[in-house]
Amino acid sequence: SSFGHIDWQQTLDDICTDILPHLGKGQVADYIPALASANPKAFGIAFSTIEGTTYTAGDWNTAFSIQSISKVFMLSVALAEEGEKLWRRVGREPSGSSFNSIVQLEREHGRPRNPFINAGALVVTDTVISHCGDEAGIDRLLAFLRESSGDQAIVVDEKIARSEAAYGDRNRALAYFMKSFGILREDVPITLETYFRQCAIEMSVANLSKAGLYLAAEGLCPISNRAVANDAHTNRVNAIMMLCGHYDRSGDFAYRVGLAGKSGVGGGIIAIIPGVGCVAVWSPPLNDAGNSYAGTLALEWFSHRTGVNLF
Ligand code: GLU
Repeated sequence: SSFGHIDWQQTLDDICTDILPHLGKGQVADYIPALASANPKAFGIAFSTIEGTTYTAGDWNTAFSIQSISKVFMLSVALAEEGEKLWRRVGREPSGSSFNSIVQLEREHGRPRNPFINAGALVVTDTVISHCGDEAGIDRLLAFLRESSGDQAIVVDEKIARSEAAYGDRNRALAYFMKSFGILREDVPITLETYFRQCAIEMSVANLSKAGLYLAAEGLCPISNRAVANDAHTNRVNAIMMLCGHYDRSGDFAYRVGLAGKSGVGGGIIAIIPGVGCVAVWSPPLNDAGNSYAGTLALEWFSHRTGVNLF
């Protein structure tokens, strides 16, 4: 490829060194105790190519809570099962209000603006459950992640899942509000339980950079050598990540990094370089929009130093 001259390993090592003075800036998510105890100085980065090589630096092997990054993979599963009919119940426009906002839902008759705000993710999860059966939604997602990353050991952190459920009243409110409009089809408690569990899945940046490769490779997973999604869907998931992947700071992420990306409040971010690879970063402290502070900075450097910016 035109990136053949780049020393990816050196790039990651340099970022790891240069990021040191920035570690600890921002605020670790504290809406649940299990996340509040994350190490604020942790930093990991991994880059996987569509040829199947993975480069890593820092805390690349530490499993952390993937949180909203799960919404990307669940969306791929839902599109595979439901196809374009999914968009009858969830939109694909940037939201402009916070990830757990309820006001927009009332204005738009219970139909969430996009699949990456919590309400939209609940619709996506409800869709997967309607195709797989009640208890199988989370298993379907875990199977997808295990296959696409090649790591059969990926699991839900039960302590975080319980914590999500214990502090999940806003998500419950969103779900029942949507149900009152007929937007959710399945049993609400099961949809919520599945959503809490998907947020609590634990992966390392190495795993995430492999798991996201199908989005850079038109649906083909280079790890299992199988099509895990179809190419039209991966283009569309990337488009939604570009416009909606960073809460209320998606425009800023596109401006600074120039890649389709999705962040989670556990401090992880994945970013897709179509035809080239997938990069994942992790650093728990978040900026005021809920995106990893050092993670965003690291991706900004990665894109500037390698020239992978889509634009
Ligand atoms: N699990 C949290 C929630 O649903 C946040 C997920 C995230 O935005 O990363 O409220």
